[in-house]
Amino acid sequence: MNKKIIIANWKSNPDSLEEALRLAAHAEAATRRVRGVEVVIAAPFPFLVPLARMLKKVSVGAEDVFWDTGPYTGEVSWRQLKNIGINQSIIGHSERRLYCGETDEMVNKKILALLEHGMKPILCVGETERSGNEIPESVGKQLAVALAGIKKSFLKNLVVTYEPVWAISTMPNARPDTPDNAFRALVYIRRILSGLYGRKIADAIPIIYGGSVNAGNIEGFLNEGRMAGALVGGASLRPKEFVEIIQIASRA
Ligand code: PEP
Repeated sequence: MNKKIIIANWKSNPDSLEEALRLAAHAEAATRRVRGVEVVIAAPFPFLVPLARMLKKVSVGAEDVFWDTGPYTGEVSWRQLKNIGINQSIIGHSERRLYCGETDEMVNKKILALLEHGMKPILCVGETERSGNEIPESVGKQLAVALAGIKKSFLKNLVVTYEPVWAISTMPNARPDTPDNAFRALVYIRRILSGLYGRKIADAIPIIYGGSVNAGNIEGFLNEGRMAGALVGGASLRPKEFVEIIQIASRA
C-alpha cells in the first residue's frame, strides 16, 4: 500500500531558525515512530539547508521555485534548490497566485522545469469560491494549463493538491471542505488527468487535500475522502497537533 503523504506548509513562519528546528524535531520524532507515512516540511528558503541537515525521516521542500537562472531579482531557481539538495517544491499555491500574480502559465513553466530535471512538484489547484457540490471547471483549467506539454514519462514525480482557496484557514469565513466533497474533487481531478494521460497514469498520481486540515478532520479526508494525504498549513505550526496528524495518517 502507498504511504500517506503529509506535507507541512509553513508559509512565512516561523520567525527564527531555532523555532524552525524545534518544530521540525517534533515531526521527525513522530515520523520515526510510525510507518506508512511520508512527511515533508515545505519551509521558507533560509531554513532549507539547516532543516535538511537535521532531518533524516522527514524530507524538506521549498514553497516555491523559479523556472530559470538569470535576471529574476528575488527568485530562487530550481538549479539553486537542486544544488543544495532540495528536490521538491510546492508550486502554484493560491497565496502565490493571489499576492504575487502567479498565473497558470507561470505554474506550467515551474512544473515543467522541475519534472524535466527529476524534481518533485507539489502542484496546488483549487477554486476561490464554490456554490453547491460541483467542482468548478476552473479547477480543470488550472490543471490542464499547469500540465500542458508535460510528457507522461515525467509524471511519476508529480503530486497534485486539491486545495479549495475558501477552505484555507486564514481566509475570511474559512471552513474545511467535507470528506464527501473532497472525494468528488478527487474523482473530478482523476477524470481530467485520465483525459490528459490515460487511466493508468492518472491513477498513479497522488492527489492530496489541503484547507483547514487538523487533527480532528484528517481521518475523514484520508478515509471517506480517499485522499492520498494532506497539505497542512496552520496545524503544522502547532507541534502537538502536527504529531497527532502524522499518527492518524499512519493508521488511516
Ligand atoms: C495552505 O494554505 O496550504 C494550507 C493548507 O493552510 P491551512 O491548513 O492553514 O488551511
